[in-house]
Amino acid sequence: MRPVLIYPENRDIALSNLAVHWFFNAFEKYSPDLITLDSETGVIHGSRLDRSPFVFVSVSYGLSFFNLVKIFERSRIPLLKKDREKGMFPILIAGGVAVMLNPEPLKLIFDAVFTGEGECMEQDIISMLELGTREEVFDLIGRFPYALTGGKDHSEYVCAKAGSFCVSSSPVLHSMGNCFNDRNIIEISRGCTGKCRFCAASYVYRTFREAGRPEVMSRVESSIEKGEGIALMGASLASCSFFDEILEKCASVPVSISLSSLKAAEITESRAVLLKKCGVKTVTVAVESADEVTRKAILKNLSKETIFNAMDVLKRHDLRSRIYIIAGLPSTEPVTEAEALINLLEELDRRKLLNGTDLSVAPFAPKPFTPYQNEQMMSKKEYKIFSDTVRKGLLKLDSRVKAEFFPYRESVLDVMCGQLKGDDFIKMIKGEDKGD
Ligand code: SF4
Repeated sequence: MRPVLIYPENRDIALSNLAVHWFFNAFEKYSPDLITLDSETGVIHGSRLDRSPFVFVSVSYGLSFFNLVKIFERSRIPLLKKDREKGMFPILIAGGVAVMLNPEPLKLIFDAVFTGEGECMEQDIISMLELGTREEVFDLIGRFPYALTGGKDHSEYVCAKAGSFCVSSSPVLHSMGNCFNDRNIIEISRGCTGKCRFCAASYVYRTFREAGRPEVMSRVESSIEKGEGIALMGASLASCSFFDEILEKCASVPVSISLSSLKAAEITESRAVLLKKCGVKTVTVAVESADEVTRKAILKNLSKETIFNAMDVLKRHDLRSRIYIIAGLPSTEPVTEAEALINLLEELDRRKLLNGTDLSVAPFAPKPFTPYQNEQMMSKKEYKIFSDTVRKGLLKLDSRVKAEFFPYRESVLDVMCGQLKGDDFIKMIKGEDKGD
């Protein structure tokens, strides 16, 4: 029985997502298919959604729910479970990070919502795929502790947590390319050693964990043998005990790598040498706030000296830098934060540490599970004040630092996707509530 996975983003984003690769590796023997926002039928076998008995939906970002509505509409599948006549439509099951953050309203859409990490669901899903009737399937799902169905409320399920894991590119999908210049994707860690109060990475995945070293190294070696690049994935890459070993192996060939993240404190001389050899061009320095008091309040353990040191190392090795900032963190004031940012950039300029540096700014968005989940976002007007103050300040640097501001409206919708319950959530993703 061929399972179909919907990933409600465009195909290149889907092919770059770890959960999608996990699914294809886990259920390879069932020849799964993938439907994306820009592919009406399965990208591998041409599967049609309305003719597939099992449809899994993986949602990583809140905004993807809007795309999911479009996918259901074009396949003429009613969005709400109550409007789907039993037996006439696929069994629809949701999972993924965005699902984990707010599973409750999804009970109105899906036959079941699986919460947590996929690894420990693998055998259960295989058992499901082997069953003969829908009744048997629903009976089995009802026994999964991580499954939320119409009959269960919040207190009756637990998020699944993986034991060992090692997700890497599925051979079937790898040949179709991805957003990482077709590099092999390898997840080396999950969770984060940090505890920044706004960030879901450590609160959702709880403890920091490393992927299985032997499996990771064998995949790294196989990529190296084929001369293929590697995209290393994880929230706290250099906290992984074998991160440097991977860099050294890749640099000795060299093969190209890309990194999902590196903390400023982890940007060292020796790593910069290896990164340069592996073709890395830009490294993101996640400062979050240029004000040291704010950084302390959000539990971002990052001193000004560490920022200068990281920027110095990057400059000396001719690596470009991207400074990442969050506007509107709780208890901050937009003009003060924006001015602190300009002061920091000016200081970096005086020290000659800007090197093709650009700036990426996003408004603070309260995330479920985090200590800031009940905090307010800054208003649209405050975000504009922040952005205008930054833009004006950048003129003093002769516009050598380019700034990119994440759209406010998309952040608001993302927050609402993580917070709204029941019909309010449904109205929003159907576009009946514009979120203004
Ligand atoms: S912001 Fe970065 S360092 Fe802080 S918890 Fe999240 S992933 Fe970790």
